[in-house]
Amino acid sequence: MTNNLYTKDLNIWFGSKHVLKGIDIEFPEKKVTALIGPSGCGKSTLLRSFNRMHDLVPDARIEGTVSIDGQNIYEKGISVTDIRKRIGMVFQKANPFPKSIQENIAYGLKLNNLDASPAVIQKALEEVYLWDEVKDDLKKPATRLSGGQQQRLCIARAVALRPDVILMDEPCSALDPVSTLKIEELIHQLKEQYTIVIVTHNMQQAQRVADKTIFMYLGEVKEEGATYDIFNNPQHEITKNYISGHF
Ligand code: ADP
Ligand code: MG
Repeated sequence: MTNNLYTKDLNIWFGSKHVLKGIDIEFPEKKVTALIGPSGCGKSTLLRSFNRMHDLVPDARIEGTVSIDGQNIYEKGISVTDIRKRIGMVFQKANPFPKSIQENIAYGLKLNNLDASPAVIQKALEEVYLWDEVKDDLKKPATRLSGGQQQRLCIARAVALRPDVILMDEPCSALDPVSTLKIEELIHQLKEQYTIVIVTHNMQQAQRVADKTIFMYLGEVKEEGATYDIFNNPQHEITKNYISGHF
């Protein structure tokens, strides 16, 4: 099995606060990896570091390696635009641009000098099962869509750039159960093409969607393995307590 995304001894500080401590993780290609762990353990910080989102945080210090397709994204001279094209990101709160549905897809394509023709936009919307729902409203503001539709639009916006990796930070925590299941089905489809990392507080969701699960605690990887093993045979007391809700 190949890994197009891994970290090697990744450390992140905000000021004097050591937030991620020596993170070594391999994310299997075209699989779903779930990041779980209590609030504040560093899940979002880890995910954001894959996209160099801390470049604008003045007191952030990052040491170590994040490698995508054999390239350390923290090496000098790397194009951040290129990294962000290869690593798509979806957030907890759907954040479509204040533009029309079609412009939400076209925007990133144009920014990256890619084909933003109607056919390309249609394909991206089809991939997230949104096309039939929005094909007559392409020029309407994206904010008119339901929460679940907006989140699928944000996934389409990421997918349109043909990334290698899609990162999702609690993509369903603001959604109702039906919209959540639609996104989970979508994740199952997308992993045929993309390496996916999902942060979730929903233990059932992790078991439904993830091949691999990583339990983080206080800025460290405490336990990792096949999702079934993590949930059925956790090796640490703290993992056992967390996944059973005794926390
Ligand atoms: P999680 O997503 O697991 O809840 P986070 O990655 O958001 O955790 O946060 C990890 C720790 O880093 C927390 O203590 C949080 O307060 C701190 N942190 C996150 N972002 C910043 C920042 N920009 N500046 C300072 N501290 C931060
Ligand atoms: Mg978080």
